[in-house]
This record gives sequence, structure tokens and C-alpha cells, in this order.
Amino acid sequence: GEIEARYRQLTPKSAELFARAREVFPGGFTRDAVMRKPYAPFIASGSGSLLKDVDGRTVVDMWFNATSLPLGHAHPHVLAAAEQQLRKGTAYFGPTEYELPLAELLIDRLPSTERLRFANSGSEAVMMAVRFGRAFSKKPVVLKFEGSYHGSYDDVSWSVSPSLAQAGEIRSPIPVAESAGLAGTDGRMAVLPFNDIEALRAYVEAHHAEIGVMLVEPMANRIGLLMPDKDFLLEARALCDRHNIVLIFDEVIAFRVGYNGAQGLMGVAPDLTTLGKIIGGGFPVGAIAGRADVLDLSSPALGFRVTHAGTFNANPMVAVAGYATMERLTPEVFAAFNRTGDDIRRRLAAICEGLPLQVTGSGSLFKITATGNTIRNYRDGAASNKAWENAVSLAMLNEGFLMTPTLSGAISTVTTPEQIDVFIDAFKTIVTQ
Ligand code: PLP
Repeated sequence: GEIEARYRQLTPKSAELFARAREVFPGGFTRDAVMRKPYAPFIASGSGSLLKDVDGRTVVDMWFNATSLPLGHAHPHVLAAAEQQLRKGTAYFGPTEYELPLAELLIDRLPSTERLRFANSGSEAVMMAVRFGRAFSKKPVVLKFEGSYHGSYDDVSWSVSPSLAQAGEIRSPIPVAESAGLAGTDGRMAVLPFNDIEALRAYVEAHHAEIGVMLVEPMANRIGLLMPDKDFLLEARALCDRHNIVLIFDEVIAFRVGYNGAQGLMGVAPDLTTLGKIIGGGFPVGAIAGRADVLDLSSPALGFRVTHAGTFNANPMVAVAGYATMERLTPEVFAAFNRTGDDIRRRLAAICEGLPLQVTGSGSLFKITATGNTIRNYRDGAASNKAWENAVSLAMLNEGFLMTPTLSGAISTVTTPEQIDVFIDAFKTIVTQ
């Protein structure tokens, strides 16, 4: 109550805009992830690691548009590239030389990839990767893991955040729809627990005749921003090899954990990789990268091929901003991200010690979950105290730090040590008072 009252005091103009937004957007927003009680602060501008809201408050960004801005807001290098392109026009009916450097850089960074196609969001990339996977394996079922989020495409919107009452046994979960209006599984998808090698092996050995695609998050957004065990990924790789299943790593968010992605850190190569977020330099983007023999199924040289269109695919604004961003993400930057991330997690864990709170994360990402369970799969964190997490997130916002309502956080290259110190102190005060 007190936290919310203070928040309302600080954000009267956001409250007004929210009332107006409710007249046009169902629920008052047009993007589920930014929903927050009582309402989200309306952002006016971003610069470096800071956001300014419409009430004139400056807050430290600790989520960077869902991890997609590794260099922070309006980085001068990205700005220069985008401004230069802006003056040349923003979209053409034809290929450009601007899309090549980004594609070449990505293929170069991900040794498992030989070809790439651009799309406009991570969701679209996953949708296309699944289509390529089914076309290649000629088998219908997509196998995914409980709690893994892969965007809003129907066939993967199952058991993302299942109601545990409906989800059945942990080792053989019943697919739970994340949304109303899905077409139904209709034999098109299966769900298994994340990080459970035995359950994976048993299921695939019994059902491989139908499984065409295995979709894995090698760093799972909604499972504590946690990487699975290397052995789990190795087993997935081996099973896919044995049974003609196309292995997709969804690195839309995981690509932020290392210069060569999560697959580079793990030393496991998927057949296809989906990308998004950071590769667009702050613009909407997606990409499907992978083996030539799979992605070449979209080559016009073939007959009944995989079709893939998109008015804004490889948009030049995205391509130049994405390249300007990615070329700044050197191995040294990733090393610094890891060092700082480890330091933040260690300091948060020290504050949380003895309390029913878990601190998890990878690289530049971290999360606090209000549960006494050690988190290794979705269910370990699913029954956390969300009301507590939301209240602490709002209290952190009052103190000038924007995280997600469930306390996920991220740093950028322009986040300062002083900002981190104040952030940690604020968290400590809120949690221990
Ligand atoms: N896949 C993963 C692993 C993601 O984290 C996300 C977004 O959070 C998506 C897919 C969907 O990407 P987009 O929001 O760009 O559609």
C-alpha cells in the first residue's frame, strides 16, 4: 500500500496517460511484458543507462528493453550509423549491401551456422525455424521444455508459464496453453521438463518417429535466466543426430551471454539458431541461422520449398544499427559483462542469504526469485511469491531502478559501478526493512 501510494505520487502524468491508453489498448498496454501494477511509467527518452519518464524522473535502466540494448540507449556509435542511414531512406524493395556485414558477422560468430535469413522479431524467427525444421525432418511434432518462452507463435506457446494444477507430473508434463485462442496441440507438440536428461531420453526413444524439431533455450528466460547443464544439451544433440530431429537453439536472449552465444560457451552445436533482440541494435529484428542443407530448403532452386517473405526483412535501418552494436560487442566486453554479472549475483546472494530468495542468472543478466527452492527447472521457481517480487520491483522503481516486475535485471556496457553500488544498497534496504 505504502509503496504504491509513493509510486502514484511520483508518476501522476503516467497515470493520466495510462487512463488514456485504456481507451485504445485492451488493458491499457499493447505489449504484455511491460504490464505492471498499478501501471507502468511512460518513458519519454533514454540515454546511456538512464531513462527519463514523462513525469521528468530519471531512473537507472536495469532491463534495457528486455535485454536488447547491450550498449545502452542512443549509443553515439549506433546513433551515427542509424542517422546516416535514415537520410538515405528507410526501406526499399530490393536487397542492399547494408544487410551483408551483419549477416556475415553473425555467421562468423556462430560456428554452427552457414546460412541466415532475417526476420522482424524473435517470434517470427522461431516460427520460421520450426517451419524449416519440419520441412527438413518431414516429421510434425515440436518438442519443447516446460517454462521455456519462445515468443508468441501458436505452436510454441505451450507450457510457458503453466498453471501447475493443470501441468501434471513433473517428468511427463501435460501441455498447458499459454493463451486462449491457440489452435490446439493436435499432435503437433510435446513438452518435457527442462534439464532432465532421463526424461528426455526416455521420451525421445519412444516417440522419435513423430518428433521433427527439438526447441531448446540454452539460457532460459523464465527459468531464472539459467543455462541448462552441458550434459543435457549434449544428450539433446545426440538424440537429434540419432533420430533425424532438427535441433534448434533459441538464442534470442541467450546470445547475450557470450561472444559465440550460449552454444559457444557450452560447446554444443545446434542445427538452427534463432536470434533477435541485441542483433538489431535497438530496432525490431529476428534471424534464423544454421546449417546450409536445412536453410537452403528456402532456395528458389528447389520445387516445393520453404517460403519466407517479409516486407521489412533485413531492413537497412536495422541492419546498420545491428552491425554497429554487434561490432562493439568484443570478447573483452563479454568478459567484463561476466565479471560484473558475477559480482552483482554474489552481492545480491549475500543479501538474500538465510531468506527464501534465490539469485540466479548468466553473464550480464540476473534474477531474484522469492522461493526457498534451488532453481534447476521451471517448477522450482513457479510457485514463488510473485506479490513480494512485484512489490519489491515497484519499491526499486521508487528508488530509481527499472527491473521487471518479477525482478529480472540486466546491465549494459554503460552501466556504471556507482549505479550498481546504489542499486545493491537500495535492494538491501528494501529487502531487510
Ligand atoms: N525467444 C526467446 C528465447 C525470447 O526471450 C523471446 C523474447 O523475449 C522471443 C523468442 C520472442 O522474441 P520477440 O519478442 O522479438 O518476438
